[in-house]
Amino acid sequence: MKFLKKKTYMSVGEVADFLGLDPALVSRMIENGELVAEKVGTGYKVEQSVGEAYKTFAEKSSFEANSDCGGCGWRYSSKESFRGRCTKCGAPLCFDCWIRLGKRICSDCEK
Ligand SMILES: [Zn+2]
Ligand SMILES: [Zn+2]
Repeated sequence: MKFLKKKTYMSVGEVADFLGLDPALVSRMIENGELVAEKVGTGYKVEQSVGEAYKTFAEKSSFEANSDCGGCGWRYSSKESFRGRCTKCGAPLCFDCWIRLGKRICSDCEK
């Protein structure tokens, strides 16, 4: 893609618009290291390609509400609670398991 040669950046607000998320959530994702961003002054800027990659990822891995987390077994009523999938079986993994504990496979596959 020729027009992407030069790095283009989006502000947190633009990324939020682009991903259909709340700006506060986008900031949190950046602070959690889930979304790669560069610090500018008191805010952040996100490379456009990073935002696009995240969108593709988010679309591919859209989660069902009222699912059990494959890591901790907890049932979540909101699909926003999930952040990833088991790399072996595709079971959803919650925010806590994925981000805090760094799990990439569910507890069944871990056995
Ligand atoms: Zn979990
Ligand atoms: Zn699994």
